Amino acid sequence: ADPVLTVRNLEVTYYTDSGRAKALDDVSFTLNAGEKLGMVGESGSGKSTLALAMMRMIKPPGRIEGGAVVVGGADLMALDAEGMRKARLSRIAYIPQGAMNSLNPVMRIGAQMVDAVRSHLPSEPKAAVEARCKRALQSVDLDAGVFRMYAHELSGGMKQRVCIAIGILLDPYVIIADEPTSALDVVTQRQVMETIDNVQKAINAAVILIGHDMGLMAQFVDKVAVMYAGRLVEVSTVREMFTDPKHPYSQALISSLPSLDNKGVFQGIPGLAPSLLRLPSGCAFHPRCDKAMGVCSTLRPESLTLASGRRVTCHLYDGAA
Ligand code: SF4
Ligand code: MG
Repeated sequence: ADPVLTVRNLEVTYYTDSGRAKALDDVSFTLNAGEKLGMVGESGSGKSTLALAMMRMIKPPGRIEGGAVVVGGADLMALDAEGMRKARLSRIAYIPQGAMNSLNPVMRIGAQMVDAVRSHLPSEPKAAVEARCKRALQSVDLDAGVFRMYAHELSGGMKQRVCIAIGILLDPYVIIADEPTSALDVVTQRQVMETIDNVQKAINAAVILIGHDMGLMAQFVDKVAVMYAGRLVEVSTVREMFTDPKHPYSQALISSLPSLDNKGVFQGIPGLAPSLLRLPSGCAFHPRCDKAMGVCSTLRPESLTLASGRRVTCHLYDGAA
């Protein structure tokens, strides 16, 4: 089957007073319908920038410099502004971080959902639009009565479900959720992840979950993509990532995961994430890498596909050493 999503050589640069920052550097990956990808990495590694670039929502001084984002056969980068507006929600839905706090406080939930549908299907009859909205609420396990309620009458978990319901109103091919469980308690986090799982199965969408909680994510995704300094450094299945991570940064992330005996405290990995304005030469990870070789500080590693189909960007696997 053809992938439902192909991201190819996506590049984003921020032109700031202090210089140029390459926020996304040659990012490529594919997803099939029904596949779930977890996108992990330290803050500032480019996860949210990737989501915004895929939605063509990068704002100045940022600029998409090149690349393709093909969703259901259409390259979003080639659409005109009106075409892109239509593609949002209908081809690709984005649930930004903190979306539940941007629900309109003075509009009923139903009216906000109806507006979202109307902006895409202006001639759909009122009854059909309302039925569509109520179906979406039911598919995220919310009572249809939520349609008449205001955001302040809902719990955090319920508001997050409303945002997911809005995301699936037009059955998109791809759903991107940025930190969908941050600010929720542990029990609610799990319920929201299960909701995403259910709606994803119902509409067979490809899902990208952005987050930093590798442990929580691992229970819900099929593949994990690791970002570092604007690059995708590894893409592997969850099982491969947890049993045999290939990139030294993935290895450090996995070994820093909380175990039962240290009471769930995330240790982080040694060293600071680099500034995108002053990236280290060669492999940007080399100052923090315990496997760095001479070549690593001078030559930028390219993304390789290993025999198993896994992707890794590291000189340990390309024979450059
Ligand atoms: Fe470490 Fe070199 Fe691989 Fe970069 S390319 S991750 S520095 S071994
Ligand atoms: Mg972010």
